[in-house]
Amino acid sequence: MRLENESRVAIIGGGPAGCFAAIHLLNRARESGLRLDVRIFDPRFGGDVKGVAACKGCAGIVSANALQAMESLGVHVPPPVIQEVIEEYRVHILGQIIRLPQPNPGRKILSVYRGRGPRAHAGEPIDGFDSFLLAEAVARGAAYVPERVRALEWQSQPVVRTESNGFAADLVVLAAGVNNRPIAESFFDYTPPPTGSMAQDEIRKPAEWPAHTVVAFFGEPKGMVFGVMVPKKQYLNVSLLGHQMGPDPIREFYQAQKEPIGKYFSAPPESCCGCSPRVPLQPAQRFYGDRWVAVGDAAVARLYKDGIFSANVTAESAMRTALELGIDAEAFRTGYAPAARRVALDNRYGEILFRISTAIVQNSRLTAAFLYSLRLDERRPPQKKILARLIWGMLTGDESYRELFRMSFRPRELAEIGREILRRGRQPSTDSFL
Ligand SMILES: Cc1cc2nc3c(=O)[nH]c(=O)nc-3n(C[C@H](O)[C@H](O)[C@H](O)COP(=O)(O)OP(=O)(O)OC[C@H]3O[C@@H](n4cnc5c(N)ncnc54)[C@H](O)[C@@H]3O)c2cc1C
Repeated sequence: MRLENESRVAIIGGGPAGCFAAIHLLNRARESGLRLDVRIFDPRFGGDVKGVAACKGCAGIVSANALQAMESLGVHVPPPVIQEVIEEYRVHILGQIIRLPQPNPGRKILSVYRGRGPRAHAGEPIDGFDSFLLAEAVARGAAYVPERVRALEWQSQPVVRTESNGFAADLVVLAAGVNNRPIAESFFDYTPPPTGSMAQDEIRKPAEWPAHTVVAFFGEPKGMVFGVMVPKKQYLNVSLLGHQMGPDPIREFYQAQKEPIGKYFSAPPESCCGCSPRVPLQPAQRFYGDRWVAVGDAAVARLYKDGIFSANVTAESAMRTALELGIDAEAFRTGYAPAARRVALDNRYGEILFRISTAIVQNSRLTAAFLYSLRLDERRPPQKKILARLIWGMLTGDESYRELFRMSFRPRELAEIGREILRRGRQPSTDSFL
């Protein structure tokens, strides 16, 4: 089973994974002189879909890796889509503020809106990142179909059914993410990834907000792995990542982090939007077969962050396989599954790191020792600032979890923390460390 001239490809979902798949496929097809009929189905960008309906709950950080990957595809994020260039993270732990400037200023990180801004936004519509990516795919020859796919059938080949039409495809690319009712599992034996529910809010940015800075919070409320406030021109996106958070995580977060949040706000922040999007916590059980392949969140994504980058990783590998090896299950097993599994394996390291960081922030002694060690780290030359790089990497997704894991188990740093714990006695306060 191979793609040939005039082969028909149905991409279900016009988020990053679907658009990257179309762009990779069409770029490569053009290079090899192949003409393909590529259609992206997604109701989210239709003519009358405005504001929050076009949104996709996401903090909207585009990592340096994602930007580099896009540049190599000839996709350059234009200034109106860029909300901020992020230059620093400030981390609040146990009453302390840790400032983490971008360790490598050459590696740009951006904030964007995935949709067109918060519900309460009244000004000019905001240029969204996803609409921009879709326009890039269309510019390369994809056709956009502003309709939801209602069903997938098999009639000697896959048939994509919308409310008004049926489209017989040679290849179906399932890029529908994890935030809609799955459509493919019955026939295609597709089992979507297990997910966790996150929490988001959108608030107005106070005038005194530090420029180009994301502020991150660890610790409370229960179940939160970390929370971030991401600047986007006049707004701040609040994203809480974790699992088994309480029934109203945003309110609990504002209460639990009252003191550090009070450093930026004179009154409790007023909500301009908000949602509880889902993130995949593990890969899908089966993410390819004859004439179909799942990419992006629908297959596997980086744990808690940088899903835009992993959407590109999976889309690139799946589309390269489709053109080079074929579109049957065996081709995807050989060419695509290893790339998807590498993302999943890397997440295992991420899981361990997030467990360790949660354990550290829940124990004031360990936190104090860690903060002390971080202060020592600050005095080291840039190439030896291991802990700063570790936190930066975990917050931004700028390095693989495996690399961060390797970095965090350097015997010298561990010995240093251990020695400090012993030296400071049984109940050190953070202050005694700092
Ligand atoms: C709270 C939170 C914060 C996050 N922050 C970041 C971040 O800062 N940076 C980052 O890189 N990642 C972040 N992520 C992850 C990121 O949002 C996802 O990994 C990324 O959106 C995955 O892209 P995708 O194209 O696979 O899926 P999606 O972006 O979910 O796109 C799926 C598309 O499919 C469409 N669709 C669904 N069903 C159908 C259907 N039946 N017919 C037609 N179309 C359909 C939807 O309308 C949607 O447009 C965050 C996630 C969450 C939940």
